[in-house]
Amino acid sequence: MAESNFIDYVRIFCASGHGGAGSSHLHRAKYIPKGGPDGGDGGRGGHIIVRANPQFWTLIHLRYRKVLRAENGSPGGDSLKKGKQGEDITIEVPVGTVVKDEAERVLFELVEPGEERILCQGGRGGLGNNNFKSATNQTPLYAQPGQEGQEGWFTLELKLLADVGLVGFPNAGKSTLLATITSAKPKIAGYAFTTLEPNLGIVSYRDFKSFVMADIPGIIEGAHEGKGLGLRFLRHIERNSVLLFMVSAEQESISKGYHVLLRELEEYNPELLAKDRVLAVTKCDLADDQARKRIKRTLPYNIPYVLISSLTGEGIETLKDVLWDALNN
Ligand code: GDP
Ligand code: MG
Repeated sequence: MAESNFIDYVRIFCASGHGGAGSSHLHRAKYIPKGGPDGGDGGRGGHIIVRANPQFWTLIHLRYRKVLRAENGSPGGDSLKKGKQGEDITIEVPVGTVVKDEAERVLFELVEPGEERILCQGGRGGLGNNNFKSATNQTPLYAQPGQEGQEGWFTLELKLLADVGLVGFPNAGKSTLLATITSAKPKIAGYAFTTLEPNLGIVSYRDFKSFVMADIPGIIEGAHEGKGLGLRFLRHIERNSVLLFMVSAEQESISKGYHVLLRELEEYNPELLAKDRVLAVTKCDLADDQARKRIKRTLPYNIPYVLISSLTGEGIETLKDVLWDALNN
């Protein structure tokens, strides 16, 4: 089984920084034997922040970065000098990332590009002794310690927010379609499993409408049994609202190809069958008149279909129409 680059789930340990201690110090200067307290406050510990970055599509960058510790705040100094704040750590994640605590409780979900939340709050810096001056005590020696940071194990899980999920065997032309009708730039190659990461793209439709399409790595026979790459990606298909089945015009029987895919989904999760489906017969530029007759003859029943070619553009506009209708029915 090929090792996948697509990381949709990571566990990380995060610790924010402790606050720096407040300083206890008495001002000393020539000719002023008994100076007042001038201990400065400690700096805040660094936060651990999670931010949704629309440039990120996976959690792969966190794969080898399992432990994140933000800097501690520095202690306060004399002459009211404040301690330096510990540097924050910002974890960039894709839009749609769900953050859970150790008990798998959902803490929050980042749904807007640029949205950010503090995961572990940096400890507050302690107050220096200067803050504790009072009428009865002009020279307090007490200063606060810094507050402790927060730490724990967290789970980041990526939800793909796609409207149309592409379902097809490797080489069906999924990546090529995505590259053709969206601005996504997926890897394309003439061998199986080129797509190790799902790619999302935005399909622009008439009058400034748009929908999101996700290229999900190929389903192979037996995917539901955990063979190949299928299983992990099938999880994502659960969230797409319309499934676009893609079967190559080169297949002997379109209906047969379609039903194998359908069976895979059913074995995995029968609820997937409740989703609207559209069928695209791909690579129709390769089909001559005779092949087209065979295609027509072997189409499955009860599913809207479109004959397409990403190469020549055949059927692409019609496909958008059909998908849009399916999404808005
Ligand atoms: P995926 O595995 O389903 O993502 O398939 P790809 O998009 O990577 O395409 C697999 C192969 O089929 C590549 O060599 C593509 O160039 C080729 N291909 C994709 N779409 C078409 C098409 O419309 N016509 C022809 N002739 N070839 C295509
Ligand atoms: Mg592909």
